[in-house]
Amino acid sequence: MALLVMKFGGTSVASIKHMENVAARVRQEKQAGNEVLVVVSAMGDETDRLVSLAEEVQDQALDTRRELDVLLSTGEQVSIALVAMVLLKNGIAAKSFTGGQVAIRTDAVPNRSRILEVDADKLRVELAKGVVPVVAGFQGIDEAGTITTLGRGGSDTTAVALAARLDASECRIYTDVEGVFTTDPRIVESARCLEQISFEEMLELASLGSKVLHTRAVELAGKSQVPLRVLSSFNDAPGTLITREEDLTMEAPLISGIAFTKNEAKLTLLGVPDLPGIASTILGPISAANIEVDMIVQNVSADLSTDFTFTLSREDYDEAATILKQVAATMGAREVTGDSSIAKLSIVGVGMRSHAGVASKMFEVLAAESINIQMISTSEIAISVVIDEKYLELAARALHSEFKLAESTA
Ligand code: ADP
Ligand code: ASP
Ligand code: MG
Repeated sequence: MALLVMKFGGTSVASIKHMENVAARVRQEKQAGNEVLVVVSAMGDETDRLVSLAEEVQDQALDTRRELDVLLSTGEQVSIALVAMVLLKNGIAAKSFTGGQVAIRTDAVPNRSRILEVDADKLRVELAKGVVPVVAGFQGIDEAGTITTLGRGGSDTTAVALAARLDASECRIYTDVEGVFTTDPRIVESARCLEQISFEEMLELASLGSKVLHTRAVELAGKSQVPLRVLSSFNDAPGTLITREEDLTMEAPLISGIAFTKNEAKLTLLGVPDLPGIASTILGPISAANIEVDMIVQNVSADLSTDFTFTLSREDYDEAATILKQVAATMGAREVTGDSSIAKLSIVGVGMRSHAGVASKMFEVLAAESINIQMISTSEIAISVVIDEKYLELAARALHSEFKLAESTA
């Protein structure tokens, strides 16, 4: 008997009526002879609501990360209980499980824990009895028994981890769009739903900002070779299959997709003495404060002093700026400047490996729209630029059109 893991995101369990739709889909799969395991997110915007409540009591001097995890994990606990009740009401044997009850063991890093192992024995017992386990996404438990969460969007990762552990035939991520599009369909109207995409490209798109899948989920699915499908919970379209590059049945286009994120900021230290070790003197205190740095650029000027710029997540901007001002004072740097209204936009495609000129075409398109590029970084299959956030949507549309992403390659 094939096992299907079906994960439903926030919009798909936003109300009891939506949960009835979940029950109908589960029934359909059970009737087709499959075993089913359900993973759910918190209802609608519940996690956002809980985050804002926590922000109301936030105090920079206090470490409340443990309590934040306890708070945020309640959202998923509500949905597993209600979804299990709705399944029972529909005559489907079901039982809810929190992350701790499964047990989904994570490391002890609060708010962005990584899953270390999953003890799936209890779930196997229930599945063997024909019961549908309804597991809380996004949450786990560390060695000390503390509740942890996997970072925003982490329910996808719970689903893939369970699918991998239980050797599921497919992990389906049901969401509010029809699948993985060439870019965010809410921003670019002509975005096209992809039939399939490679793990590698999906991983780049996710880590560069396409929130349709949690980055760790793609990473895990790629490693464990679990077939992963993103599809709508509101219609019966087949969605997008994320698969190995060698299994793609279509030739890879030059560019597969465009990802972007507005959640960016940059900081610059001007007039730093150009001496060995400056990068670590600057970034050491930043990483000691658990702040992640993304792009880094260092320019040497004519007087042999350098300017050092890096990007980081916008929520870390104020804290990093304070640290950097202290660093600047101790190392005799001239000035700290910053900008918290930048965005990062990236084009991704395995086709780039064998084609030159993709970067220059991207820069031409941006130049034609008079959009200034502030920073550039590249990987084997992606090119990212930092631009002023106010031009992000214009840039995404222009690139989508110039690279002809609305046109099917099939
Ligand atoms: P869920 O609550 O179901 O997990 P998310 O909000 O996390 O849903 O992810 C779905 C959203 O991702 C879509 O509504 C869409 O706006 C956004 N998105 C961003 N990039 C893409 C893309 N390339 N393809 C599809 N959706 C995307
Ligand atoms: N409820 C969590 C969030 O909103 C996890 C998820 O939906 O994947 O981030
Ligand atoms: Mg999500």
